[in-house]
Amino acid sequence: SPIVAAFVARTPGSAAAYAKAREIFPGGVTHDTRYVRPHPLAIARAAGARKWDVDGNEYVDYFGGHGALILGHAHPEVAARIAEQAAKGTHYGASHPLELRWGELVRELVPSAEMVRFTNSGTEATLMALRLARAATGRPKLLRLRGHFHGWHDHMAFGVTNHFDGTPTPGVLEGLASNVVLADPNDAAGLVALLEEHGPEIAAAILEPTGSTYGQVPLRPDFVRLLREETAKRGILLIFDEVVTGFRVALGGAQQALGIRPDLTTLAKILAGGLPGGAVVGRRDVMELLDPERAAARGIEKIPHQGTFNANPLSAAAGVATLEILKSTDAIARAHAHAAQLREGMNAVLAEAGVPWAVYGTHTGFHVFTNPRGLPGIGPRSFDPFAFGYEDLKVPRGAQAPTKLALAMRVHGADIMPWPGGTVSAAHGPAELDRTLEAFRRSVRMLRD
Ligand code: PLP
Repeated sequence: SPIVAAFVARTPGSAAAYAKAREIFPGGVTHDTRYVRPHPLAIARAAGARKWDVDGNEYVDYFGGHGALILGHAHPEVAARIAEQAAKGTHYGASHPLELRWGELVRELVPSAEMVRFTNSGTEATLMALRLARAATGRPKLLRLRGHFHGWHDHMAFGVTNHFDGTPTPGVLEGLASNVVLADPNDAAGLVALLEEHGPEIAAAILEPTGSTYGQVPLRPDFVRLLREETAKRGILLIFDEVVTGFRVALGGAQQALGIRPDLTTLAKILAGGLPGGAVVGRRDVMELLDPERAAARGIEKIPHQGTFNANPLSAAAGVATLEILKSTDAIARAHAHAAQLREGMNAVLAEAGVPWAVYGTHTGFHVFTNPRGLPGIGPRSFDPFAFGYEDLKVPRGAQAPTKLALAMRVHGADIMPWPGGTVSAAHGPAELDRTLEAFRRSVRMLRD
């Protein structure tokens, strides 16, 4: 196709890097979602809202470090604090003042964070939150929502043909999968029926509070409120997975925006300012299961938790710098405003081109609905994602338009995610937005004609 040909012609360095990478890394990548045809981009450097590949092509970036970089790449203050800390040592094998500052900031900003335990990633954070919930309740089962992602550990990694359909993944014990109950997003009656059936066995319900993939299938606030009420009634812990939404939807995350208090919350990404890091935060009585003295006083065995790099000084430095900037500036509001402008501009492009797709989203996100199932009546001016279910909004395997669009956008200088969509940072200014809209205009025309 002309799009693939144009991409290949511009990216010989990325192609060569990928040929080598295929020999070293399974699939040639180190994260599943970086696997794209004909080859992924090899990125040489990044600053603000932009990044450059090894061939010198410039891109406006909408991956944002898989969501870790709401301030943009190499923010000068964050970079300086990382460098300063690196010179003072990267690991003390001991407690240190910066982790304390980091924990204090998290407690101050996240409404339900009574106590904090740092981990190395979001995956580790949800693993620990689920273990805490099972230990606190003495119950085996977990309830999750179809399409919601909570990391790749065994308790949450399901699906052969569809990563999220609840069938066991090869290598994951059937016993783990059979202890997970899947609910459909926004289906209140279905949720209550599942809780009626399994409630006494369920330790925790976990969800992405604004919906899967930062809102690609948005959740109704009423549904989340119902889940809060029903779980509280039944002694089930509610876990907000705010790995993406934390410090993004609002300073205090989706829980602040929604005014709903979960029992436990998982954090990562923005939390550690672009370095590896995560955390479980929440109710003191549950978090105390990690405290040897308090657990013993309650006659409970302490939950084990180690981790060489937990709260390491570099991640703490980046995290503290980032959270302090978010707290003292309007960075989050700017990112939201730029995202809203981008969504509106993209819809204007679609209307002008007469293409029956739609762009939607909230906070920093945007999602391009390319209507892979050919639903009637779709258009950029009238799209309401709440009118559609999970099956309609999720991109089916093998859908052509999303991957073609992402590739065409790369050809025209913007790097969006292949679902397709992305997140906007505080560093995306008018110049980046204009450039992106021009790339979108050309890409849409290329796909249309
Ligand atoms: N939870 C959510 C909502 C996520 O989006 C992700 C990662 O994208 C994770 C958990 C896993 O976090 P990590 O990639 O840091 O392990």
